[in-house]
Amino acid sequence: MEEKEQHKGRRLTPAERPLEVDERQSIYGLTRQQMEKFFISHGHKAFRAKQVWDWLYRKRVRSFDEMTNLSKDLIHFLNETFQFNPLKEIIVQRAADKTTKYLFQLGDNLMIETVLMYQEYGLSVCVTSQVGCNIGCTFCASGLIKKQRDLTAGEIVAQIMQVQHYLDERGEGERVSHVVVMGIGEPFDNYDNVMSFLRVINDDLGLAIGARHITVSTSGLVPKIREFADNGLQVNLAISLHAPNNEVRSAIMRINRRYPIEELMAAIDDYIKKTNRRVTFEYIMLRGVNDQLEHADQLANLLANKRKLAYVNLIPYNPVDDNDYQRSRPEDVSAFFDRLMKRGINCVVRKEHGTEIDAACGQLRSNEMKRRKREKKAKNTGKVEE
Ligand code: SAH
Ligand code: SF4
Repeated sequence: MEEKEQHKGRRLTPAERPLEVDERQSIYGLTRQQMEKFFISHGHKAFRAKQVWDWLYRKRVRSFDEMTNLSKDLIHFLNETFQFNPLKEIIVQRAADKTTKYLFQLGDNLMIETVLMYQEYGLSVCVTSQVGCNIGCTFCASGLIKKQRDLTAGEIVAQIMQVQHYLDERGEGERVSHVVVMGIGEPFDNYDNVMSFLRVINDDLGLAIGARHITVSTSGLVPKIREFADNGLQVNLAISLHAPNNEVRSAIMRINRRYPIEELMAAIDDYIKKTNRRVTFEYIMLRGVNDQLEHADQLANLLANKRKLAYVNLIPYNPVDDNDYQRSRPEDVSAFFDRLMKRGINCVVRKEHGTEIDAACGQLRSNEMKRRKREKKAKNTGKVEE
């Protein structure tokens, strides 16, 4: 409304004009099997899917027109039916440790962020799965923004492709080798799209990112953990546990009121039984909330039956405006770590990446949104706020 009022009576500048929403789905959203079926159902040969796949993920061209072994008709058909890249790059920030943050704009102008991290074991990309998140954990910047919508599979794959294109342009032969679904959003609240995403990036004829190099993190949607155990993908599972008892967990993670720790642990035990795969437990260290030795003991008790198949990741808290949590003191973190180790629990303290460039979950996006709001206000009032 406000925007309309402001422009009444004059023509909009190109920057003010709303983008046209492109309703075509992204070609990146189809698994190879879906693409084959699609081609067959439209009277084309199934092997065309393999060719297109090769252009998309091996040669990594940026338009259908570059796919020179396809007929003109087919290229025309693809252009009519699909959009290529649904993301527009808004900001790229590279930190001293080479951590790179990308802010992307979607076709409907919403914004998401993606992070590239240089780890000892390879290049890892953290992708966003939803715009905002409805789980509402009290310590999380993403949880402050209600979910606006799920991302499509194509929008999630495109985050990896944008980063890989960026690396290709640098010409150093770098390749995204690891993926974590730990950006904004709850992946199991967007289950089908996230599963298609995983199938696309894992496909041997495409990016071929190994399932063991991919991790999906969930706040603990029990029915979906059970479904995930049956889906046949060998992808790693991480659980955002963050507290060792129901009282603390329900206070900081609403989801625990729906799926309390006993139900969560039962689902994880079944997952481990079925898959024999190791599960990572994420645990943000919040000063005076969950970081005392009694909590370490409770955590060790919870995980005792999983032995070598449980792995705890102690995460330094990234301060978020609008809440009162503080980071645990270093001596509390090391005492907590020592206690877990003594109790035979595998444990690591997570290294931080790119803190000087807003690398914490949701921060680049929320800072950019605040900046735009300030700018808009300044435009309206003629004043610039500090
Ligand atoms: N929704 C999923 C995945 C995205 S959140 C989940 O909760 O698992 C990814 C990780 O970032 C989670 O472990 C989450 O708890 C953590 N996180 C959220 N806010 C954080 C903060 N302020 N500081 C440190 N880690 C945070
Ligand atoms: Fe959502 Fe995960 Fe943040 Fe909780 S921690 S609000 S589930 S993104």
